[in-house]
Amino acid sequence: MSKVVLITGSNKGIGFGTAKALLEQAPEFKTIILTARDSSLGESARQALGHLDRTDFIKLDVVSKSDIQAAASFVQSKYGHLDVLVNNAGFLIKGESFNLEIVQRTFATNFYGLKDMCEAFLPIMSPNGHIVNISSKLGLTSTLNNPELASRFLDPNLTEEGVLALAEEFTKYVGEGTWTEHGWPTSEFAVYGISKSLVNSYSRVLHRDLKARGVNIRVNSVHPGWVRTDMGGPEADLSLEEGCVAPVQVIRDESDVSGKFWRDGNHFEYY
Ligand code: NDP
Repeated sequence: MSKVVLITGSNKGIGFGTAKALLEQAPEFKTIILTARDSSLGESARQALGHLDRTDFIKLDVVSKSDIQAAASFVQSKYGHLDVLVNNAGFLIKGESFNLEIVQRTFATNFYGLKDMCEAFLPIMSPNGHIVNISSKLGLTSTLNNPELASRFLDPNLTEEGVLALAEEFTKYVGEGTWTEHGWPTSEFAVYGISKSLVNSYSRVLHRDLKARGVNIRVNSVHPGWVRTDMGGPEADLSLEEGCVAPVQVIRDESDVSGKFWRDGNHFEYY
């Protein structure tokens, strides 16, 4: 089978490392489409990988709906379909604090951008396609430190509108300065963590809704581990190569596992 995979934010870090590992280890992927918001960084990454016959590049900022639509049209006209969409692009402000701008910027890339990518690419995904969302253990609901709030993220009847409402609620409370009194966390990395909690809930809801419609496209999310990238920093546990093992495992997985959170080689119900 000659598959096509697209990876967002693949000019560096885990996106780049995952593309490299797929080129070296996964011959089933005939084409690996790198994307980056900066064309020159993306083209340099492609040259550095050195498999020009198996790679392609598209300029793609995931906060730009026009970039996303143009990318989906390009993939459809050149390849006819996409087999695996890897939503890897991510944003973390070091030393984040609670202000509206930080919440909006973080959610724009990590949650709304990822959701817009899924919506634009679903219509061109192959019938057994797979959406792989690079999430984080910081999005597990225990990090919210509020069981009642956690239960809203994990509600089996949660809808896509419900996930959006959670995002809007937190944004509004931060804007008002009242998020703590409404039970939202104040811990380090909380804004980033909540963006990943939204990704996890959205992934679960999207999986459930696709299944209910008889659509066979799988949706999983994966925690790569704490990885030495620009985001993870030099003290992180895993080298870049080690940090790409989990994403590559999920991308290559051909079982029927869907709607799950992958971590350390295993998959779990969202928790
Ligand atoms: P890096 O900061 O090294 O790379 C992030 C990538 O995302 C870059 O290519 C960056 O592009 C891109 N990006 C950021 N914003 C946008 C945007 N608006 N549109 C398109 N691309 C964008 O981070 P990592 O490689 O460490 O992280 C990759 C993913 O893994 C993220 O989703 C992150 O949350 C997740 N993760 C990382 C962990 C870690 O320890 N490193 C742990 C758990 C999860 P640019 O160069 O232009 O900024």
